[in-house]
Order: sequence, then C-alpha cells, then structure tokens
Amino acid sequence: MYNLIIFGPPGVGKGTQSQLISEKMNITHFSTGEILRKAVSEETELGKKAKEVMENGCLIPDDIMIGIVKDALTHPPVVNGFILDGFPRTIEQAKALTVLFKELNLTDIKIIYLTSDDEEIVRRLMKRGRSDDTEATIENRLNIFSETTSSVIDYYKDNEKVYTVNGVGEVDDINKEIIRKISEN
Ligand code: AMP
Repeated sequence: MYNLIIFGPPGVGKGTQSQLISEKMNITHFSTGEILRKAVSEETELGKKAKEVMENGCLIPDDIMIGIVKDALTHPPVVNGFILDGFPRTIEQAKALTVLFKELNLTDIKIIYLTSDDEEIVRRLMKRGRSDDTEATIENRLNIFSETTSSVIDYYKDNEKVYTVNGVGEVDDINKEIIRKISEN
C-alpha cells in the first residue's frame, strides 16, 4: 500500500509520472488540476468559480481545494493507496491535509519531490499547449510556485519521507528512479 504525494513546479511531469505510478502500483490517482478542469468543462458551480482563476494561473482558494480533496479521499474510501498530484500548494492546504490523513487513518505518507530548472519548465509548458499554458500564465504560475508553493516542502521535511528525484530526462528513467526510491524504505 502506497500513500503518495507528488510535489514539484508546474510542468515538471507530475501528471505523467502519477499516471504511470498509479497504473503500475494499482493505486488511485487524484489530480486536483484534472478535477478542476472537469468541473470547468461540465460548467458546474465549482467550474464557474474556477475557470477565470485557472486561466490566469492563480490559486483556487484553500477552503474550496481542501473540500475537494476531502471529498476525493473519502468517497469512495481509499483502499489500495493513492497518489495525490497538485495538492497541497499552500501551507494551509498542507496543514489541513495532515488533519485529514489523521481522521482517515492514512499513515506512512511518502512525498516524491520532482525537480527541474525554470528554463526546462518553460520549454515544456510552451510545448504542452494546455489552455492555461500561455506565456503570461506560465510566468504567473512559476512565480506562485517560488513564492508560495515551494515552502510546502519545508513543512514536510521533518515529519514525512521526502524523496527528491530529478524530473529532467526520459519519462521511463525518471519513473524507474521514483519507484526505486519509494520501494527502498
Ligand atoms: P495543475 O493541473 O496541477 O497544473 O493545476 C491547474 C490549475 O488548477 C492551477 O494553475 C490552479 O489554478 C488550479 N489548482 C490545482 N490544484 C490547486 C491547489 N491545490 N490549490 C489551488 N489551485 C489549484
């Protein structure tokens, strides 16, 4: 059973790696970005609120995000483990997640920290071409990562196992490295 969080800057490959890991380890992939994009395309209440914020590359308010993740982890309950992708992005979210894990009795959480340099990230995001991958939005998302989200890793470093993996290279090599590290202990 693996209870995983994948963390790192936008465009580092969290989505791709999460997908592979969820398939190989038979665990559930929760992507907050995917949940939000689905809500936007289905024009739900959440989607209407989220659309503009996402288009600008800003963060959705913490209380909304915490509600989404609580719901995802609870209905249906996690059975064989999970990989959480895109959350937490703020210290408030991280604190709420700690409480939630306790409530749900989810233990032995491992954090995969995927790293890359800014130049590589901009190159990848420009290539990806998602609707929020414009130059201005990318710049904003990178700024938010360095100003707000990056400190989330400090929140975890004393209490959880953090596995740092270089996210630049071949998808398969990076995947093997992640699995090797998290399987070791
Ligand atoms: P992602 O697919 O993870 O890059 O997320 C796409 C967009 O969804 C982000 O740029 C944010 O606008 C929003 N989003 C996803 N996860 C979160 C989160 N944990 N907190 C706030 N906003 C989020």
